[in-house]
Amino acid sequence: MDRLELGPVTVYFGVQRGKFPDGNQVVVRGTEAKAAFDTPLCANRLQRELAGADLVILGHVHEDHTCGLHLLPAAPVYAPAPDAEALRSVEAMRDHYGYGEAAWDFTRERMLGLFRFQARPETLAYRDGQTWELGGVRVRAIHMPGHTRGHSVLLVEPLGIAFIGDIDLSGFGPYYGDACSDLAEFKRTLARIEHLPARVWITSHHKGVIQDRETFLGLLRAFRARIAQRDEAILSALGGGGRTPAELSTRRFLYREGYEAPFVADVERISLEQHLRLLTAEGRAVERDGRYRRAETA
Ligand SMILES: [Zn+2]
Repeated sequence: MDRLELGPVTVYFGVQRGKFPDGNQVVVRGTEAKAAFDTPLCANRLQRELAGADLVILGHVHEDHTCGLHLLPAAPVYAPAPDAEALRSVEAMRDHYGYGEAAWDFTRERMLGLFRFQARPETLAYRDGQTWELGGVRVRAIHMPGHTRGHSVLLVEPLGIAFIGDIDLSGFGPYYGDACSDLAEFKRTLARIEHLPARVWITSHHKGVIQDRETFLGLLRAFRARIAQRDEAILSALGGGGRTPAELSTRRFLYREGYEAPFVADVERISLEQHLRLLTAEGRAVERDGRYRRAETA
């Protein structure tokens, strides 16, 4: 498998640079302990490399990051506190997504099948600032929520290697389409992340490893801009006459037209509700009797 060694950190690239449904596997080998960051699909082809891992640290809980946990039944698994419960049972996972029945049925089947999800009732919760000493290297969790409530960056110190997970800098843009997502938090995270003391950034999907700051900042700018573009698309769909969220539900603001999957309607709905809430709070949209219209501009 294609890999990149960065001293004690190895990145194993999933299919197509970890394009969803795959992801990139990070392993950190200290002199005292070996840690795996997440376990994407490709973990199942890395049994030798993962064997003997002393711990698994998940940057956040989503089904495509849990695929190799079954290979490490004895290793302690850490998840950010706001996400930890989701890993403890399939039922808690359901609340984590907050989808309607059809979308959840599809997601659960894929989670238990393709993604080989096995609940870990003994999951350990970590908080912002928690560190793990691996011998010569330390991992620090930095809470960067929005994608999920707990989403965290795992910073390998003193090397400045940041595993930024599903702040994946993809062309799709930020994903905040689940019950556990928060667009307002995501916007704050995207404003903070450039100040991380990092010189290498590793994403779970698509981009893989970025080793120069200019490239990182350019990708980050484009990624953040997707939120503003969605705002504009929603405002223009509202028009001056006003629309209810239900009337807007036939429109696509995230996924391209023609892309069909059982979760699309739920993800569009959850995302749209958050945009409308923020646009209203910012005075760019006005709500009356459940109808939203674009605010008059001076
Ligand atoms: Zn995710």
